[in-house]
Amino acid sequence: MAALDGLPPLREVIQRHGLDARKALGQNFLLDLNLTQKVARTAGPLEGVTVFEVGPGPGGLTRAILALGAKKVIAVERDSRCLPALAEIAAHYPGRLEVIEGDALKVDFETLPVDGPVRVIANLPYNVGTQLLVNWLLPKAWPPFWQSLTLMFQKEVGLRIVADEADDHYGRLGVLCGWRTQAYMAFDISPQAFTPPPKVTSTVVHLTPKENPIPCAVGKLERVTEAAFGQRRKMLRQSLKPLGGEALLAKAGIDPTRRAETLSVDEFCRLANCL
Ligand code: SAM
Repeated sequence: MAALDGLPPLREVIQRHGLDARKALGQNFLLDLNLTQKVARTAGPLEGVTVFEVGPGPGGLTRAILALGAKKVIAVERDSRCLPALAEIAAHYPGRLEVIEGDALKVDFETLPVDGPVRVIANLPYNVGTQLLVNWLLPKAWPPFWQSLTLMFQKEVGLRIVADEADDHYGRLGVLCGWRTQAYMAFDISPQAFTPPPKVTSTVVHLTPKENPIPCAVGKLERVTEAAFGQRRKMLRQSLKPLGGEALLAKAGIDPTRRAETLSVDEFCRLANCL
């Protein structure tokens, strides 16, 4: 892709700007521009789309998104050392890359001024990835401000996102994602593709919002799933005791001898609505 966008290879960019990877910032850079394009393509057509990216780092994924025709990228990066490298990309694509320096957990993505559709694409820092996903699943309005989320996680987290009942990885995250989105794992990326290589395999997950998820108060859904999965091997009449136990289960029409991992997302919503 260096030839495609005319910008220098990422290794050179990293060396020139002294961007040695910092573990505390979850810095595992993807330098293979074919792979960054594959991630960006997973989001679907980008023409006319504004992309929110978290953690652009030296800009490999950012470059792929811009080369694939995104109208604009708004990228949030915490590491100020990356800003000069990102400024070079911004100069190459005038008016199409805006970088916000700071902690993505503190950015209110919902209120960023944008014209037209928004997609989120990111190779997320592992320490804040799940929290960012949960924030994007809980905006004030639904359907949300984004058309899709294309996110890279540790594979174990990806499995929890797409899990449903009868799946070992099913838990609170699976219920939340299954309630409001359709999610699938697009492809894995081996540790060797990153610099430096992380300890585990990564995976790209693509989520799109359900138009009409079952109406349900998210606070109640979280209370029910927290209690149920907090003691996932126990029967629900025991694990849900603090929330009403057998009476709550009877109201929702759910057998009290069942366990959390056997309940569908719809049944969890029913329980939340009976709280
Ligand atoms: N996008 C680049 C790539 O694919 O090679 C870098 C991905 S690296 C896994 C994660 C990036 O997130 C790093 O650039 C890191 O500095 C940045 N980062 C870490 N914590 C952050 C936070 N709280 N807010 C914004 N960026 C953060």
